[in-house]
Amino acid sequence: MKFIFVTGGVVSSLGKGLTAAALGTLLENRGLKVALQKFDPYLNVDPGTMSPYQHGEVYVLDDGAETDLDLGHYERFTSTKLTRMNNLTSGQVYQKVLNNEREGVYLGKTVQVIPHVTDEIKRRIELLAETSKADVIITEIGGTTGDIEGLPFVEAIREFALEAGIGNTCFIHVTYVPFIKAAGELKTKPTQQSVAKLREIGITPNIIACRCEKPLDKELRQKISMFCNVPLEAVIEAKDVDHSIYEMPLMLQRERLDDLVCRILHLTTPAPNMAHWQEIIRKLIAPQHRVRVGVVGKYIGLQDAYKSVYEALIHGGIGNDCGVELVQIDAEEIEKFGAEKMLKGLGGVCVPGGFGERGIEGKILAAKYARENKLPYLGLCLGMQIATIEFARNVLKLEKAHSTEFNADTPHPVIALLDAQKKVTKKGGTMRLGAMPCQLAVGSKAGQLYGSFVIHERHRHRYEFNNAYREKFEKAGFIFSGTSPDGKLVEVIELKDHPFFVASQFHPEFLSKPHQPHPLFKGFIAAAHEQIHHKPLYSI
Ligand code: GLN
Repeated sequence: MKFIFVTGGVVSSLGKGLTAAALGTLLENRGLKVALQKFDPYLNVDPGTMSPYQHGEVYVLDDGAETDLDLGHYERFTSTKLTRMNNLTSGQVYQKVLNNEREGVYLGKTVQVIPHVTDEIKRRIELLAETSKADVIITEIGGTTGDIEGLPFVEAIREFALEAGIGNTCFIHVTYVPFIKAAGELKTKPTQQSVAKLREIGITPNIIACRCEKPLDKELRQKISMFCNVPLEAVIEAKDVDHSIYEMPLMLQRERLDDLVCRILHLTTPAPNMAHWQEIIRKLIAPQHRVRVGVVGKYIGLQDAYKSVYEALIHGGIGNDCGVELVQIDAEEIEKFGAEKMLKGLGGVCVPGGFGERGIEGKILAAKYARENKLPYLGLCLGMQIATIEFARNVLKLEKAHSTEFNADTPHPVIALLDAQKKVTKKGGTMRLGAMPCQLAVGSKAGQLYGSFVIHERHRHRYEFNNAYREKFEKAGFIFSGTSPDGKLVEVIELKDHPFFVASQFHPEFLSKPHQPHPLFKGFIAAAHEQIHHKPLYSI
């Protein structure tokens, strides 16, 4: 088994996760079984308790783990199935070490960062190696080299590599080579210093991937090679991609990253066949059709907060050979300026998940506008609850209907706390989480789109549709097209006499991939295109 470690230097947000994921794509297409893993040096046990402003989206796995959004990239770029084993935080490491200490596992020893914390980190790499049975494990270390909190992870991978033996590990350092306008030059000094930091700990990278806005010429590569002690051919350029993150595997292939990695790890595999990725990129760059759809949210200024939703909408476009222009709409602006002004001219509107009261009324106005104007609507988790509240207030005339999350004293709690949530007091990892089965109704739009009647989708919520209102809703044309197999929990709703009004309590965005667009997103984009151009893209 072979191990690749991806570290980052100079600044954060360099796209280490994307680099790891794109390398995963290339290795998989060389016929290797790949497993990916992320180490996060913060002390939260998982990102589930962090605000989107701190962390961006929380990505949920089948087993209910709330993880870093880089795991979303791993799943979208490869076929690897992830579990809570694939994301380790300092919080989890310390929790485990402290529990061990209380249980007397360390037999009277002084418990220390080295070896106890580092051993626990190494154990998690081994555990993934054992359970995944992959040929190659790619481990990404979050944060930037030199961060105090990252040190135990860097030390652990150094020790791990030593123990794994020659030819079994490969260190990739992703770094930043800034372009200094005044000098008109790319500068390599920060990279040299960041590699020096790694070498201080005892790691010399095998490969340096340089993120840069301008091409990295031979002279600069030579400089980095010489001063960072890395062969010239192992200094690769990772220039900003022009159109889409899905160009990354092809860009890295042109730089021969996969070839280099395979040589370092003594893996003899054929060059990857990337024809299907090229076709994906063609559909992204030069699609046959185009459409604009709106996403109404409250973290709109924040690129990472709805990452999987944006990606899934783009995949829905790939599935229809249709370019998707995403219009990000702040729900509070709808409250100020009205839905008509903000949504007119769009092919459809998507209301994604969320928590907290801010922007709720704007989202309700968006759902009302979509229902009344027959504008395609896709609701995701909170987006389903919003559609329910809107229908209750404006069609059923249940005045002040609301979710008890936002108004505990509403006379019509059409969305209320799940039974299982009533006694929950702790915040971390206590929502209804992970993949659950859902039964779709025969003849429903959702059933048609999925082409199947039992599906498994991922959840992350505390509130649900209140069954006391089911009959009232049904009589008025609100369709419960998906429920838990026992029929008790509403999972998907849709509207009669509407071209596309579908909303789910689960998060379909977590299961969409560029090469396997999710059926709900594919259907939504097709409907949005039809809305504007009045002719179907494909028939279902
Ligand atoms: N806040 C809602 C709930 O907890 C919706 C959650 C979500 O959109 N993920 O049920």
